Amino acid sequence: MNTVDLRYMSLLLFFSWVVFGLVGCDSQPQLTATSAVKSAGVIYHGGDIVTMAGGSLDQPEAVVEQGGKIVFIGTLAEAARGFAKASNFELKGKTLMPGFIEPHVHPSIAALVLPNEIIAPYDWVFPNVTKKGVRDPAGYKKRLEESINRNNARESTDSNSLFMIWGYHQLWHGDLSRELLNRLAPNQPVAVIHRSFHEIFFNDRAIDLIGLNAEEFKDNPQVNWEKGHFFESGWMNIAPRVVPFLAGSQKYMLGLDLMSQLIQKNGITTIAEPGSGTDFKAELGLLNHYMAQQPPFNVYLIASGTKLYRNFGDNQKAMELIDRLPSKYNTSNLQFLPKQVKLFADGAIYSQLMQMKDGYLDGHHGEWMTPLEDLTQQITDYWRGDYKVHIHANGDKGIQQVIETVTALQQSDPRQDHRLTLHHMGYFDDQQAAQIANLGIEASVNPFYLWALADKYAEFGLGEERAHNLVRIKSLTDRNVPVSFHSDFSMAPIEPLTLVWTAVNRIASEGIAYSPDQKIDVYTALKAVTISAARTINLEHEIGSIEIGKQANFVILENNPMRVEPQEIKDIEVYGTVFKGKLNIPISN
Ligand SMILES: [Zn+2]
Repeated sequence: MNTVDLRYMSLLLFFSWVVFGLVGCDSQPQLTATSAVKSAGVIYHGGDIVTMAGGSLDQPEAVVEQGGKIVFIGTLAEAARGFAKASNFELKGKTLMPGFIEPHVHPSIAALVLPNEIIAPYDWVFPNVTKKGVRDPAGYKKRLEESINRNNARESTDSNSLFMIWGYHQLWHGDLSRELLNRLAPNQPVAVIHRSFHEIFFNDRAIDLIGLNAEEFKDNPQVNWEKGHFFESGWMNIAPRVVPFLAGSQKYMLGLDLMSQLIQKNGITTIAEPGSGTDFKAELGLLNHYMAQQPPFNVYLIASGTKLYRNFGDNQKAMELIDRLPSKYNTSNLQFLPKQVKLFADGAIYSQLMQMKDGYLDGHHGEWMTPLEDLTQQITDYWRGDYKVHIHANGDKGIQQVIETVTALQQSDPRQDHRLTLHHMGYFDDQQAAQIANLGIEASVNPFYLWALADKYAEFGLGEERAHNLVRIKSLTDRNVPVSFHSDFSMAPIEPLTLVWTAVNRIASEGIAYSPDQKIDVYTALKAVTISAARTINLEHEIGSIEIGKQANFVILENNPMRVEPQEIKDIEVYGTVFKGKLNIPISN
């Protein structure tokens, strides 16, 4: 452990103390929780009940919950006879579905983004504020300046904390550099984080504050020192040194609380984070303190094999650590998933740093997040160790790299039901989808890429053909590849119904629909945020559908997504959720 790590740990130990103090006095004003749990149970009826069990729509009349579990599904008359003492929950025309599952979201990123500044190409709507989008370089610089000045004027501004602004994207906002940030903020440390979260820019004050020096990065091709620009592994490597300056514990806890509000408002009862950090005592400590308040959702974590390899230089040691995590850290609502690991292939789609077979129109090239030899070795070791491997892969060349490694492994070390899952999958073609299906590879995709990027990427980098065919979901679902959707917040709003809407309509930001042959039906799209999302994290026997024996986790919607016009799906209001039998209604409703 070097001195920087020590400083980080001590800071975080300090955070833990502060946080520990905070938890006790937090009154959680955003929720009114009505306890519906009685030992006699609750009969839900009087509206559509969409179970998401099986391959087609099933709508029973009544569901009974007892002790947090689903114990009966059938007619109302039978439910009333069998559970005479149960209380009734009348849906009054609302729709009951399994609670939505977010299989890929980063609480740490949410905790940093939400309480800080957001200046992005499009609007971000939060429970009590909308951060307006800006789509031209002059407008962006003006907003940046206003924001920096506003922060500077705050009495509480601490010259030792880093002011963070998320959402920059060069295709909308033009060039950015250390020099520009120095001009706008000569006295306060400022960090601008790219829309992709895979790049960061610092001004001089920030570089001094963190203690970075030119010498240590002179051979790093993923750092442009002159521009104060760190990207992909150049940024991932220094992130643990930067994070302590981005958010003190109080701000971090506020960020987690805002994330929690969004989770509840959008009908989610389970989230998972693939690629959880390696600072188990720090980041995990804060999350653990937050979850001790028992918010109405579960959090599952999957360790990052890439980060652990960086720490140990050895996959075997990483595996030993991963195997110890559940017994060491699991609580009732925050758990490491056993025998699962997250790896990283190519760069971020929002940065146009994914690896593309046919390159980019302007001649720039993609990046590997993990050197190829290491990536192949990591996939091989975890495959042989019988792990479920989750791999971040975005471009067709990045995805092809994984396909080829798995093809070789299926020859040398064949595995049934390995469930290796590709995450994000920005661009791939139909032929690759066929290979994916043949190899038993599964998918967790971000359909929102099409909405956010198709218009701009048609003009820059990819051209129309590729940009209009981002995230070809139907090529996968037609071949029975299990597909879940995720927001990878903040790579999409943490809104499962918005993801469903994008996949069903394939409408992009300018309002134009693309690649209609890749539209999927509403039921298949709903599976992607319920039962298939449960499968992505190997929990399909516990959650994800309304079936006897499963957890009584539900979302209650004002309208049935199977009945409204496809264009209206994202506007369906979430009335509330039921988590392990308890009703939760967000106070904003
Ligand atoms: Zn992610």
